[in-house]
Amino acid sequence: MGVDKRTKNGDVIYDVAIIGGGASGLAAAITAARAGARCCIVEADVEAGLGILATGNGRCNISNARLAPRHFLHEDAARAMFGAHAERDIADFFERLGLMLAEEGEGRLYPVTRRAESVRDVLLNACSRLGVDILTCATVSHAAPCTSPSGYWDLTLSVPAAALSFKQGRDAKARVRNARKALAVAERTERTLHARRVIIAVGGRSASTCEVFRLAHLNEIPVLCPIACEIDSNAPGATRHALALEHLDGLRVEGALSLMREGAVIASEAGEVLFRPYGISGIAALNLSRRIEPGDIIELDLFPSLGQADMTELLRSRASSIGSCCGDASWFDGLVARPLASLLCAMLNDSADPMAHAATLLHHLRFRVHGTTEHAQAHIHRGGIPLSSVNLETCGIVSFHDGTSPSGLFACGEALDMDADCGGYNLAWAWASGMRAGLCASKGTSC
Ligand SMILES: Cc1cc2nc3c(=O)[nH]c(=O)nc-3n(C[C@H](O)[C@H](O)[C@H](O)COP(=O)(O)OP(=O)(O)OC[C@H]3O[C@@H](n4cnc5c(N)ncnc54)[C@H](O)[C@@H]3O)c2cc1C
Repeated sequence: MGVDKRTKNGDVIYDVAIIGGGASGLAAAITAARAGARCCIVEADVEAGLGILATGNGRCNISNARLAPRHFLHEDAARAMFGAHAERDIADFFERLGLMLAEEGEGRLYPVTRRAESVRDVLLNACSRLGVDILTCATVSHAAPCTSPSGYWDLTLSVPAAALSFKQGRDAKARVRNARKALAVAERTERTLHARRVIIAVGGRSASTCEVFRLAHLNEIPVLCPIACEIDSNAPGATRHALALEHLDGLRVEGALSLMREGAVIASEAGEVLFRPYGISGIAALNLSRRIEPGDIIELDLFPSLGQADMTELLRSRASSIGSCCGDASWFDGLVARPLASLLCAMLNDSADPMAHAATLLHHLRFRVHGTTEHAQAHIHRGGIPLSSVNLETCGIVSFHDGTSPSGLFACGEALDMDADCGGYNLAWAWASGMRAGLCASKGTSC
């Protein structure tokens, strides 16, 4: 830990203040503290790292064994950030924290415990060991920039006027829920914090922080989120009620999704598709959500390994052994789940050649896209701090909104305009950029 430096009033001057204690902020703090910097994290929520708990369905797909730039929105920036050794650097970072990793399909890395809380725990333990101060329930309401390399930033923080009072609850989740309720109604006051360098690590909702720090900001839109869509069907006699997606809510299928615009396939994904009343979710749909536009068509192929002719033949031979379909959903038992079978039956209504039509539907179940769902459901946001404002070699901000140059200001993680496919790539960006920002901020090398 660095030796405390103080203002004339006796206030601590931190070497590095990190705004946001999520994945990238914690990686930045640990890296800077390991390099000898006196660090503090300013976290808006009631605890740091809470977002990590929801990742990977509670298992945290922490990174990927192969961080190919093609998975990222800006490939050149991903190349610049990851260099040749990012996979190893990220694994080393967690190994040093005591976290053992395990690899699953497509290079996806998870904590060996398959529990996201293990990831959060080792990060928080390290912060505690390294003497990183974590100020929770705090946001920055004003930032007076550092005017010389030897100077420091004066940050005005908005904090609760008194310690929060709330019931502890039955478990950790209840405690957090109660604490958040208390925070929402708490009276607030201001305090000042001084830091030579500041790292912005506020995640995908960075507009207000960019305003405080006078940074350029690109409007944030949710990506990697469920797709709002409806079944696209001209099936004669099939009522809208029968075709409503709510009948499929909760059903998971394996299949291949093709995203079509003006009749041409522009992207495809294979994997699990989860039906929801408003549309589709699951990893395949999340990945496609990065590329959709309202009005696009998504086709679901439930049997991608079978050709159309083979599928028709299979259905005809099924009809000859178990009898014809006659609009009975149970005819599809053993082939597709019952809710999907009911949908197929509604769409097959009055079909002249039901077997050929069913084969077509099983290969080309079409959905008309309305757009992505709201921010709250997004795994990641596109937009934020434009990469043109940042030197990716250091994660240092090179210009304020008005074109002048800040001193000692850095940014990392989702606050930067970067997003990637599912598969551990987004957290990999958060860890790699956090580590770089932390290291460079600790040394004072910004631009
Ligand atoms: C449900 C879900 C599942 C996901 N699963 C995966 C996965 O398995 N693998 C993967 O690679 N990616 C996953 N992601 C994406 C991944 O979580 C993000 O890429 C990553 O968390 C970004 O890290 P970050 O530090 O930039 O932002 P965050 O983790 O969002 O952290 C930002 C922190 O800053 C705090 N903050 C915000 N504003 C302020 C402010 N003004 N002042 C102070 N503090 C502030 C927030 O409270 C938060 O703690 C998932 C995302 C979600 C939502």
